[in-house]
Amino acid sequence: MGPLLIKAGRVYDGVAERPLEQAYVAVEGDAITAVGRQAELAGSAEHFAQVIDLGAEATVLPGLINMHTHMSFSAGEAIFDDHQRESYETKLIRAVENVRAALRTGVTTVRDCGTLNGIAFAVRAAVESGLMLGPRIIASGEGITTTGGHLWFCGVEADSAEEVRRAVRTQVKAGADFIKVFATGGGSTPGTNAFAAQYSEAELCALTEEARRLDKRVAAHVHGTPGVLTSIAARVTTIEHCSFLHSSGIQYAPEQGRRIADAGIYVCPTIFRGWGKLLAQNPDQPWAAAHLKGQAERFDLLRRLVEAGVRLVSGSDAGVNFNEFTDYPGDLIFAVEGTDLSPIYVLKSATSVAAEALGRDAVIWESSRLGRQPTCWPYRGIPCKTSTLSIHRGWWCRAGG
Ligand SMILES: [Zn+2]
Repeated sequence: MGPLLIKAGRVYDGVAERPLEQAYVAVEGDAITAVGRQAELAGSAEHFAQVIDLGAEATVLPGLINMHTHMSFSAGEAIFDDHQRESYETKLIRAVENVRAALRTGVTTVRDCGTLNGIAFAVRAAVESGLMLGPRIIASGEGITTTGGHLWFCGVEADSAEEVRRAVRTQVKAGADFIKVFATGGGSTPGTNAFAAQYSEAELCALTEEARRLDKRVAAHVHGTPGVLTSIAARVTTIEHCSFLHSSGIQYAPEQGRRIADAGIYVCPTIFRGWGKLLAQNPDQPWAAAHLKGQAERFDLLRRLVEAGVRLVSGSDAGVNFNEFTDYPGDLIFAVEGTDLSPIYVLKSATSVAAEALGRDAVIWESSRLGRQPTCWPYRGIPCKTSTLSIHRGWWCRAGG
């Protein structure tokens, strides 16, 4: 295919504070070769074999990154029961369908945070080899957890400093792109304690030390504050959820946020609408009031973390309860609406800042990096001018990996 010109009302690169107005993206082969204003194109439009004008209302974005998924999970009411009941093959088929569906909503990179090794690495390889069309997959495979700990059913169980070192080596040998560790228990695994740390500081430090030795980043699942504190001490790369959860609700002190920021740790708060979708269908659910109160507290916590200097990355925890892979663009809108974070802040958290947390620069559209761009995804709406982010499915093109 010859050079392609895409015109749109706005092009946002995932980095700047504002989108370019009346802009274009030029694509040649598998690379984006230029991004600029249409006025600068004068006379050179005939150079292109194909011109696609998306119209004044379209905004072209880099491909979105979903920083937290579980590709084989059912998104049902009881993911533990589903995982135990379903065959390996069913889980594999679902993983394929989930990541394909994610790509159709503009998600071009998925960081998978806990799926059986065989499934996660096979799906990643199938995309990389061209066997199937899907987003780029960055996978931890099985997360490291204590015996009977959170997500043990798709994890590696390890109970001491020596065992977590061995577990890191096992996962790297199996093909993990990064290490996922469960620093506290979690709601979806019966018999775990979300408020308490699963590992001592010394054990978690042993894990991150081993991961660093093997040049792997670490994502730590954390609900209770004891897990936040061990994760800061161990200098993990990202804290997932970061709920500061106590039995009586969220308990957060600004000093804790500053310590996360000072350690250069990103937080992936996994905001998603899942349960809210059920409420929209039936607002009279007995758990409605408690859910809405908890949601408001979570949004308030996010604002305070950002105030403390913490950098957020976006990930939806797709695959868990009522949380479909296709919901992610809507989850970003939900995050904008629930907090006073700007649409640009949230878009960055799902593009350039997420790429930074992954140690990749592939989504960044700086002119010095032209030629290495993966994907653009036009959204209709005006994400950068209004207080809400408007995203609809639209046309997409893929360039490069
Ligand atoms: Zn998760």
